[in-house]
Amino acid sequence: MPECIVVGGGAIGLLTARQLFLAGVDVLLLEKGRLGGESSWAGGGIISPLYPWRYDDVVNVLAERSKKIYPELTDKLFDETGKDCELINSGLFTVTEYQQEIIDWAKTWSVDASFINDIDSVRAIESRVGDAVNQGIWMPDVMQIRNPKFVDALRASCEFLSIPYREQTAVEEIVIKNNKVCGVRTHQETILADKVIIASGAWSAQFSATESSVDVVPVKGQMIMYKGEPDLVKRIILSEGHYIIPRKDGRILAGSTLEKIGFDKTISSDALDELHQAAMELIPLLENLEIERQWAGLRPGTEKGIPYICQHDDVEGLYVHAGHFRNGIVLGAASAELMADIVLGREPWCDVAPYTMQAEH
Ligand SMILES: Cc1cc2nc3c(=O)[nH]c(=O)nc-3n(C[C@H](O)[C@H](O)[C@H](O)COP(=O)(O)OP(=O)(O)OC[C@H]3O[C@@H](n4cnc5c(N)ncnc54)[C@H](O)[C@@H]3O)c2cc1C
Repeated sequence: MPECIVVGGGAIGLLTARQLFLAGVDVLLLEKGRLGGESSWAGGGIISPLYPWRYDDVVNVLAERSKKIYPELTDKLFDETGKDCELINSGLFTVTEYQQEIIDWAKTWSVDASFINDIDSVRAIESRVGDAVNQGIWMPDVMQIRNPKFVDALRASCEFLSIPYREQTAVEEIVIKNNKVCGVRTHQETILADKVIIASGAWSAQFSATESSVDVVPVKGQMIMYKGEPDLVKRIILSEGHYIIPRKDGRILAGSTLEKIGFDKTISSDALDELHQAAMELIPLLENLEIERQWAGLRPGTEKGIPYICQHDDVEGLYVHAGHFRNGIVLGAASAELMADIVLGREPWCDVAPYTMQAEH
């Protein structure tokens, strides 16, 4: 019988299971489909919130810690598995007018950020930008990770470390008796455990213990990918919620839509047109590149983007680790450390109050 079951094998479940396993917990990770096959595969992997100055400090606390963890984490994953997550430092240029708020934010968090207000200086950063990308804020230290490679490396690391996991295993019910967790029921069997962590992404409100208390809803994001050459575009460029992410092998992602229409992952030609139009304004040469692929993922949406990282209020042994919305990768590494602190009863590395069920999310 495992000590702790993690329900959901996205980045959040994988990172949580890894943390607990490395701390000596007998953990079991259950995933209804393929490990990392949902939002964590579909995302852009920018290791920064978009417009971080608009977020609550409690989101930035997690983001800033994760930024420090990622280089070491991806090195470890490489040593364990030989898999390269393609963590690269692309920098992020955000089209925006000067705002004191941004400068203040950068100072507070010691983030290297400077305003650029003429097109020649912008083109010295990214030569391919269109005329509309003529002023904004440049953050040279922003990294990105390549999502499919990251989840693949996490999965391979589960194998390397022998972290127990099962795929194609949907948890149908969390078994609770006298307000205490006893385990989970899958379609095949009941698996007993004293601790259960819900890390089920957009699906985290599906269990009876969470449906009225965990406010996480699916928010669809569509993305397109161009086939380019390495170094054709070098920087992440963001404007009005649309962004370009150049990958190491020359592929270029353009994202993303924000659609609150339930558990629906269909892709649409309207979204393709919207993303392509916006992308061409940022980087005109994209007009001539082939769009190789389009996909959608379901973000675990919360109103303010503040995740639940907590013990359940009413059920002993039940924990919730969900609702990272647009920032599950950038927040995930630090968030998993905090979840492990809470589950293990260790001194938490930061204040846990903002992530409890009672807090605003
Ligand atoms: C288009 C797009 C772009 C994004 N860009 C970025 C970005 O640049 N930077 C960033 O930080 N974040 C980004 N995100 C957000 C990020 O991808 C998510 O916040 C993150 O992946 C959430 O991870 P998760 O593990 O909570 O969810 P998921 O990856 O969705 O994993 C949840 C898992 O739980 C499983 N599950 C559900 N119910 C059950 C059950 N009953 N039993 C067993 N398993 C179950 C699911 O199958 C799934 O695999 C983006 C997302 C999208 C869609």
